[in-house]
Amino acid sequence: MPSGEEQGSGDQPPPPQPQQRSIGIAQHRRTIKQREVTYRCEWCSQERTEFRYPGPLPRYCCPDCRCLAQNRIAAQRMKAMRKRKNPTPRGWRRGPGRPKQS
Ligand SMILES: [Zn+2]
Repeated sequence: MPSGEEQGSGDQPPPPQPQQRSIGIAQHRRTIKQREVTYRCEWCSQERTEFRYPGPLPRYCCPDCRCLAQNRIAAQRMKAMRKRKNPTPRGWRRGPGRPKQS
């Protein structure tokens, strides 16, 4: 048996080791629970109840509603922009104007 250097001579006592306990570990980690929340879709105004993590509520019940609503918003914005840019986009010239004859 060639061993003997590591644990043979008892010159120095082993350095003190920090003790570890597994108490209080659960308190350090924050556990987030899902809650049951009810919200109303802004598009189809359907109420929906879901388990969700705390935070801002979704505005729409499903991706379809969100997509439609956003399309509508984009269209309205575009309309408003066009209106502001060009107050009389159509109907300003009413067709090929016939010259008024006396
Ligand atoms: Zn919806």
